[in-house]
Amino acid sequence: MDIEQMKVGFMDVFCYLVACPRTKQALVIDPAGDEDRIVERIKQKDLDLKYIVNTHGHPDHISGNAKVRALTGAKIIMHELDDKMVNSAHGQEMARQWGFTPSPPADITVKYADQIVVADVSLIVVHTPGHSPGGICLIGDGNLFSGDTLFVGAIGRTDLPAASLTQFMKSIKERLLTLPGETIVWPGHDYGVRPSSTIEVEARTNPYL
Ligand SMILES: [Zn+2]
Ligand SMILES: [Zn+2]
Repeated sequence: MDIEQMKVGFMDVFCYLVACPRTKQALVIDPAGDEDRIVERIKQKDLDLKYIVNTHGHPDHISGNAKVRALTGAKIIMHELDDKMVNSAHGQEMARQWGFTPSPPADITVKYADQIVVADVSLIVVHTPGHSPGGICLIGDGNLFSGDTLFVGAIGRTDLPAASLTQFMKSIKERLLTLPGETIVWPGHDYGVRPSSTIEVEARTNPYL
């Protein structure tokens, strides 16, 4: 599968365009900021965007959902628990407080071990609660899209409402560090170290693990 990493928005979110090279069908992960540039890139590459997939429901990751859906017709996919959070009064208030456009409800909700498929691209949903109740990582073809769960040299925050440090460390240890060492880690933010890593390197060098 073809992966393009794009840094978007003022919180340096990493958005990913993931496409099937054979059919040009594609999905986008966390298109949160610079939506016009993302859609322009989709047109340049002649992609047929099927899904907008959110690693979790925090405002900095879902702020582009409404616009990208309106411009492409792609369906929004989120874990059922974060979809609930986003659509609660608390979730809508959090978006306003953080200064982001709120997201419409998900068109499709997923849970642990579901698969998201576009043509030859298949991503397995790994529920990794802790940073948020419905946070997910996506695994496909030796790649791990790790959202705000695992970063290069860091891990996600657990001091936010609805976060849990105990749940979080369990998610990372049981569901991420057990993956093959050569799995490529594509994080949800650019914290300036390296744009990607591997499970083996993080397990060995990440000071938080
Ligand atoms: Zn987050
Ligand atoms: Zn984030």
